[in-house]
Amino acid sequence: MKVKGTLNSIRGKIVLIYCLLVFIATTIIGVFIMSQLEAYYINSTKDNLSKAVQEGSLLISLNSYEDIDKHKEEIQESIDAWSKSLQQEIFVVNESFMIIAASNETKGKSAIDILDQGLILQGLGGGSTEKTGYINSQTARIPTISMVFPVGGNKDARGVLYLRADLTSVYNTINQSKEIFLKAMIIALAITAALGFFIAKSITEPINNVTKLAKKMADGDFSQEVSIKSNDEIGRLAEMFNILRLKLNETLTEISNEKSKLETILKYMADGLIAVDLSGHIVHANPSAMAMLKVSKQEIEERNYDDIIKEINPRLTIKETIEKCKLAPVEENFEFGGSNYAVRYDHFRDENGSDVGIIMILQDITQRQKVEKMQMDFVANVSHELKTPLTTIKSYTETLIDGAVEDPETEKSFLEIINMEADRMNRLVKDLLQLSRLDHQQEKLVKKNCDLTKLLLNAVKKVELTANGKKQHLNCLFDSEKRILIIGDKDSIEQVLLNVLSNSIKYTQVGGRIDIDAIIHDKKVAITVADNGIGIPKAELSRVFERFFRVDKARSRAMGGTGLGLAISKQIVEEHDGVIKLESKEGIGTTVFITLSLAASRGESNID
Ligand code: ADP
Repeated sequence: MKVKGTLNSIRGKIVLIYCLLVFIATTIIGVFIMSQLEAYYINSTKDNLSKAVQEGSLLISLNSYEDIDKHKEEIQESIDAWSKSLQQEIFVVNESFMIIAASNETKGKSAIDILDQGLILQGLGGGSTEKTGYINSQTARIPTISMVFPVGGNKDARGVLYLRADLTSVYNTINQSKEIFLKAMIIALAITAALGFFIAKSITEPINNVTKLAKKMADGDFSQEVSIKSNDEIGRLAEMFNILRLKLNETLTEISNEKSKLETILKYMADGLIAVDLSGHIVHANPSAMAMLKVSKQEIEERNYDDIIKEINPRLTIKETIEKCKLAPVEENFEFGGSNYAVRYDHFRDENGSDVGIIMILQDITQRQKVEKMQMDFVANVSHELKTPLTTIKSYTETLIDGAVEDPETEKSFLEIINMEADRMNRLVKDLLQLSRLDHQQEKLVKKNCDLTKLLLNAVKKVELTANGKKQHLNCLFDSEKRILIIGDKDSIEQVLLNVLSNSIKYTQVGGRIDIDAIIHDKKVAITVADNGIGIPKAELSRVFERFFRVDKARSRAMGGTGLGLAISKQIVEEHDGVIKLESKEGIGTTVFITLSLAASRGESNID
């Protein structure tokens, strides 16, 4: 495994290649030199032998004998004399393969077992020849070179002169050379491996550095740069890598900024946004979408889109929406959990133009629809409210113009009705104008320190006459001597008190009771106006502050009400950062609560 790992690295490969190259080169050189050396030694031995034979007189004297067998003694003497100067073994073999003379003890023996027959035969055939081979002694196998020269001419050789030289020393020398060469090769290989290692290291180290940093970059760390140590290809690679790192960092920062910008926009946008892929996995859902669909983040992550949407609107499943928005984006409305939603969706595609999923924008249009309805109702109400007095005025005026009424008394009563209806219209227009000014914050409210006790007493005084007319009891439960300082617009606050008080008088029977109180609690004052009048049905209670809302239209109108009093009061109280509430029980009575802030300073100056 380790070897495999090493070979997989450039360092290992370089070292291996270097060693292989050196090994191959030295082996080729070695084989070449050794073979040359061997050839050289053998040739020089051969040359020595043949030179000795050519230059010495042995072959000449042998050639001079007609019959060598008859001159055995002389030949042996010549050999003995000659062998002293020559290191090789010398044999003279006759035609019948008998050694007739030799430099060793083989004289008189048959050459067949001792010498090479082939060579002898070739020599007897008239040719000088040679051969390398081995002879087996008792202890070893000895390398030899044998040379044969024909005796008595080339055609009719009478015998052969057989020379045999021992090549052991030659081969020993060659073997020693081989050993030296092998050692040299091992040293060369070791040096090559070491050099290769360091050369490879100088190449691989910068590459490893780049790899390490690339890994860090992959993990999102762009802080470190590669040190450039050389000006070569690797140095340039490191330089380019550093440029790449900076560019990548810049691009990623840009992308991440854009992403966080987009995420913030999506997070805080009022419309819900959902992106779903074709498999039904919700890729993104912003908080508004989660709130509208009433699902948690965990559900978004864990549940399939179709499972969620089926419970909300089965017409919005992936399959159906993809089908519907094939040609153009689709917009439709639906109702869920008491709210109305407008949903707009379209498919989104990848760079190849194939569908990837659906993007949906959800809008809660409940409020918008409510406002639109209110606007329409308002126009209808205003028209209706104006139409009634106008019709009355027109019919009475026409009767008067026609001269049909001759009785001055009736004429007067007609004119009084016209006047009353005109007053009603005037009140209505005045109230509408005031509401409009309050809506557009054009109503100039002069907020100053003022005494609420005084304002309450004034208001009670103003409605006292009407209450007395209905034999109603107005009970001021608050201490009329104690000042309650508030900051507000005196006239507006008084208008609110008058509205509430006159409502209590209007909607309480003859002889009824109205209690007025002002209780101070924790920097606030709570004004209560409680009557034991007709009350308001529970179902209508939440609507009493709506414009033109009246429980009993005919009754309210008959009493001169416009249906705007409480709406105006609410606007004014809210302009003073206060709260107005109404509690009522049908047939038992109504209590109005107005909470206002007390003035911080208890100073006596500038009090109205
Ligand atoms: P209006 O001019 O008709 O009095 P308001 O806005 O002042 O209009 O009051 C709205 C409606 O609330 C009234 O028409 C009446 O039906 C109901 N309402 C207000 N105050 C009382 C009350 N004290 N008792 C019973 N009903 C009341």
